[in-house]
Amino acid sequence: MEPDSIAYVQCAGSRDKSMGVSYCSRVCCMYAIKQTMLLSGSLPLADITVYYMDIRAFGKGYEQFYQNAKAMGIEFVKGKVAKINEGGNGGVELCYESQDGEGVVTANHDLVVLSLGMIPGWNPEGVCPVSADSDHFIKSIMPKLSPTLTDMEGVFAAGTAAGPKDIVDTITESGAAAVEAAKYMVALERSRKAAA
Ligand SMILES: Cc1cc2nc3c(=O)[nH]c(=O)nc-3n(C[C@H](O)[C@H](O)[C@H](O)COP(=O)(O)OP(=O)(O)OC[C@H]3O[C@@H](n4cnc5c(N)ncnc54)[C@H](O)[C@@H]3O)c2cc1C
Ligand code: SF4
Repeated sequence: MEPDSIAYVQCAGSRDKSMGVSYCSRVCCMYAIKQTMLLSGSLPLADITVYYMDIRAFGKGYEQFYQNAKAMGIEFVKGKVAKINEGGNGGVELCYESQDGEGVVTANHDLVVLSLGMIPGWNPEGVCPVSADSDHFIKSIMPKLSPTLTDMEGVFAAGTAAGPKDIVDTITESGAAAVEAAKYMVALERSRKAAA
């Protein structure tokens, strides 16, 4: 059965110290907005609501993308979702604390999608000689000047291994890591030749 009413819950598992994840996962606002727009195209009669604390549309053109979603009829409700229960008729009951002064509100939807945050799939601490940062992502030793450098010689980190990021930033970082790796190999070769 096609859902008539779909909810997205933002910051699910991010920005929540009680879960040990205090950081913003960076990508979930934009991927949720993209998904709601695609859904709206496939299910034009469905009501789609996004529950959010903040919309972080940080990249070039992202704010316009967000405004386009609103113009398409996607509803954005500022509120922190506290609880999700089983609702009537196989649906879902969602309890949220409204940040628009309405107090605690209950809403019913046919389907709820959690915009899950990013956590590392492993903790290099104790497994690998590369150090992790306080959030267990691979730690950069020069985050501002050379973000792909780790504290292990010859090991370079790029993409989400080093923290939440989107595809654009991942590709940029991958290029930087490749350049660092090439520089490292040239320096290694030179020192080998000098020693010979
Ligand atoms: C639901 C969702 C939607 C998203 N939508 C967008 C979007 O629309 N636009 C956008 O820009 N970004 C989006 N992102 C973010 C995007 O997925 C990441 O930026 C991107 O995938 C990062 O690339 P990566 O290569 O660093 O990591 P990944 O794509 O996660 O690749 C890591 C690879 O390493 C493999 N791997 C892991 N551990 C090991 C191991 N021990 N040995 C061997 N292989 C291993 C994994 O299987 C995986 O294939 C989205 C993220 C999520 C979660
Ligand atoms: S990107 Fe948006 S949904 Fe994801 S953690 Fe940050 S504020 Fe929350």
